[in-house]
Amino acid sequence: MKEKIIIIGGGAAGFFCAANLDESKFEVTILEQNSDVLQKVKISGGGRCNVTHACFDPRELVNFYPRGNKELLSVFHKFQPGDTMDWFEQRNVPLKIENDNRIFPESNSSQTIINTLVEEVSNKNFEVKTKSVVLEIGKIENQYLVKTNSEEFLADYIIYTTGSSPKSLKLIQNLGHKIIDPVSSLFTFNIKNETLKDLPGTSFNNAEISIPKLKTDESGPMLITHWGLSGPAILKISAWKAVELAELKYQFEVLVNFLGINVESAEEIFKKFRQGNPKKSIGSSKIFAITSRFWHRILWLSKVDLEKNISNISAKELHKILENLCQNVMKVSGKSTYKDEFVTAGGVDLKEINFKNMSSKILENFYVAGEVLNIDAVTGGFNFQACWSEAWLIAQDLNLKEI
Ligand SMILES: Cc1cc2nc3c(=O)[nH]c(=O)nc-3n(C[C@H](O)[C@H](O)[C@H](O)COP(=O)(O)OP(=O)(O)OC[C@H]3O[C@@H](n4cnc5c(N)ncnc54)[C@H](O)[C@@H]3O)c2cc1C
Repeated sequence: MKEKIIIIGGGAAGFFCAANLDESKFEVTILEQNSDVLQKVKISGGGRCNVTHACFDPRELVNFYPRGNKELLSVFHKFQPGDTMDWFEQRNVPLKIENDNRIFPESNSSQTIINTLVEEVSNKNFEVKTKSVVLEIGKIENQYLVKTNSEEFLADYIIYTTGSSPKSLKLIQNLGHKIIDPVSSLFTFNIKNETLKDLPGTSFNNAEISIPKLKTDESGPMLITHWGLSGPAILKISAWKAVELAELKYQFEVLVNFLGINVESAEEIFKKFRQGNPKKSIGSSKIFAITSRFWHRILWLSKVDLEKNISNISAKELHKILENLCQNVMKVSGKSTYKDEFVTAGGVDLKEINFKNMSSKILENFYVAGEVLNIDAVTGGFNFQACWSEAWLIAQDLNLKEI
């Protein structure tokens, strides 16, 4: 007789797990509270679904996970982005690697990914029950009793893939798991500062941002928005320091280097330019890789007349210009969500999970995967990759069981 598996949560982790389970051994039911499954996959990557990232070395890959980096290493040794690509391509979903190494379906539509997962699960004759809100999980002898808003189910195994909603965290906490308090990750910084005022859309190829209080810095592209600063450099630092920044209630000072080079190097570039262009006005001088509007803003902040001849810039004025460009201190007074692409740090404590197979160390025959765990990554397809890898590991573990 087949053993019964209940998967709680019809998202990326739940469906990928089901899609890899052996239908000859298991009777599987996915319980999903919404009327549609895979809703987050649908809206992911701006509707294109950034499935994974072209980073095929597990040791390199874990560096994109502020939480979970240690634990995921062994998981990625078993199933990594190359395996994700093979899995989808074997099911006739061609994928493409974009210039920044993000991987998308060639169709540019998340629906392709949804159709593949739904079809795979349906071909195995597994049941998907939507509008089924799991309210309680109990035990009857060796089995689990799962109560939803409308039905009750007995299960030999539970796979818990509910994402990070507070209710589902409470449910697993009631079963004995410790929850690390959820905080936002991947957010942009709200800053009111004369340097940025009325310049939304201005971008910097390789800026550097540091938070002196936390002794941390990041570099990469950066963007001025209506509310402050955004772009990969900001998102990275927000993810790596998500917990500490929440503790600071998102009130802290940043040191911004718009050029991403030190003051000495910037001074050298300035002086070289001045030597070659002694007659130019400072305002019309294109010295650094920044827009003219931003350059004029820096000159205005430094109280330097745009018409002033570059040869007449004093050492004091140059110092002020370079300080505003490379060591600009700003006050952050809050956070904003990045393109609705919020990710939650926090969730089930990783110490209570066995990363050989994603089983709970507390509950027998109980597996946990996906965003419900205290694992999260920067943007780029890494969050889904964690789901695919963890879910695959669970399916392998169950498929190999002697029944
Ligand atoms: C706008 C947006 C865009 C994103 N884009 C990307 C991207 O391009 N690439 C990437 O890697 N990551 C992306 N992410 C992150 C990614 O979507 C998540 O990491 C991923 O969906 C987590 O999958 P999951 O299966 O763990 O949880 P979810 O996808 O949240 O699925 C959990 C499911 O469980 C259900 N559920 C919860 N509680 C219960 C209950 N009690 N009973 C029954 N059902 C329940 C929920 O309704 C949900 O359907 C994006 C996130 C957002 C918000």
